[in-house]
Amino acid sequence: MAQDLLRLGELDSGWEQVNRVQTKDPYDVTIFNLKQLQSQLETLDTIEAPGFIIRMDKKEAKVYGHEVAELLIEAREVLTKKYNTELIEPIYVEIFPRQKEFAIRTFGLPGGEGFLGVCFGRLITANSPAALKVDSNWKAVLWHEYCHVVTLQKTKNKMPRWLSEGISVYEERQRNPIWGQSMDTTYKQMILGDDFVPMSQLSSAFLQPKSPLHLQFAYYEASLAIEYWVEKYGMQSLLRLLEDLSVGMPADEALRRAPGSLDALDEEFFVFASEKAHEYAAEIGLAKPSEEERKEIAVWLEAHPESIYAIRLKVQALISSNRWEEALELAKQLQTLLPNDASNDGVYAMLAAIHRARKDLEQERNALVQLTNLSADCRQALMRLLEIDRERMDFESIFVWCERIIEIDPLRLEVQIARAQAAQKRGNSGVAVRSLNACLELEPIDPASIHYQLALTFESSQKFEQAKRHVLMALEESPRYIEALTLLAKIRKQSDSQRPQSTIEGTSP
Ligand SMILES: [Zn+2]
Repeated sequence: MAQDLLRLGELDSGWEQVNRVQTKDPYDVTIFNLKQLQSQLETLDTIEAPGFIIRMDKKEAKVYGHEVAELLIEAREVLTKKYNTELIEPIYVEIFPRQKEFAIRTFGLPGGEGFLGVCFGRLITANSPAALKVDSNWKAVLWHEYCHVVTLQKTKNKMPRWLSEGISVYEERQRNPIWGQSMDTTYKQMILGDDFVPMSQLSSAFLQPKSPLHLQFAYYEASLAIEYWVEKYGMQSLLRLLEDLSVGMPADEALRRAPGSLDALDEEFFVFASEKAHEYAAEIGLAKPSEEERKEIAVWLEAHPESIYAIRLKVQALISSNRWEEALELAKQLQTLLPNDASNDGVYAMLAAIHRARKDLEQERNALVQLTNLSADCRQALMRLLEIDRERMDFESIFVWCERIIEIDPLRLEVQIARAQAAQKRGNSGVAVRSLNACLELEPIDPASIHYQLALTFESSQKFEQAKRHVLMALEESPRYIEALTLLAKIRKQSDSQRPQSTIEGTSP
């Protein structure tokens, strides 16, 4: 009960129960873990936004708390309207800088490394980028989790997991087509092979997946099921399905209503999904070498020249032996076959590597840009683009790449510095100030220059008090900072000339 209450956001009574269990059994492992966590939770910062209580690590809250709040407010606006739901609020969002704390808060025990975030209806727990070993887009994760809040509350928690996951992944793609999962050669093969699960049995795909890949595929397939439902029966019908579930109608019965029978539903969805799979990269060959055939890969490659795996392997081999022109030719063929390859080590990453080796900066940049149009977590490509465009002082592009990298990792000093500069150039002083303040939290080598930049930004937007404060802080760090001294003199002059007459005469108290 203690754990359930905590997961439901009933914090006071939850902690009360934790204490009760602990007095009776001080050796209970979960309770011991939760007590440890309680003291950690007290060190977190709280950000309040309409409908939310957000808790984050102190430093992280200062770096990107504002952006977290902005995104959640947008999600609330869009999704509660779309799903016509009145929520019980506030929603608690807890973002942990260490995975083990996320695990204790979510599961009561360490583990669950594969989870980015979890939702219990009123509580969302998530890993911060600092807690993760893989690149992931935290905006997409929070959008997904918040969508669970909406669907779980709408159905009073009476919905199958596949349906809630399907809607969350579907809504990620609605917000941004490159968020959420999308079709790739693996999924194409799974749908057209033996791994497709009929819609009426999708629960089992989540409860007993054959492998981690099958579980991941279940999320994708569930999102396709929602796409099919909305295309065929419309959004209103999806809402009715959720309403039916909320009043306790069994899932099978609720699902049967629109198509007439579960068989019809399964049949229609199979046709929909296999069409999508056939359409994706229609020209490619999908033959894959077996373990045995891998031992004699050259022979297998000869026999399967049209296979996508064969072409990929060949390009990689050509790259590793520095045969750039041949690699380029074959990679271009691959691109024609698979123009929507969103994988971060796929055809666009290969093309970028080849062009880079050939010192063709323009083409390298093109390939990287194409990857960023398909992938939401392509950190490496974005970092390289940032490097290229900083050389060219292309501030519009720098700004875009920085914003995109911050969606994956806001805790990188050089990216926050670059965004601040680009924002200043674009006359966006609000974002510049936000980024410079973030920099101060990220242990800059030269805090004086950050304060100086802040002073300049405030000065340019006529905020002389703040400008003066930061220029003094710069001088406190570095008393012989000539530019800062000059700026201080300038600010004094400007703020003096702005001062109202009465103050100079000393008539006001
Ligand atoms: Zn989910």
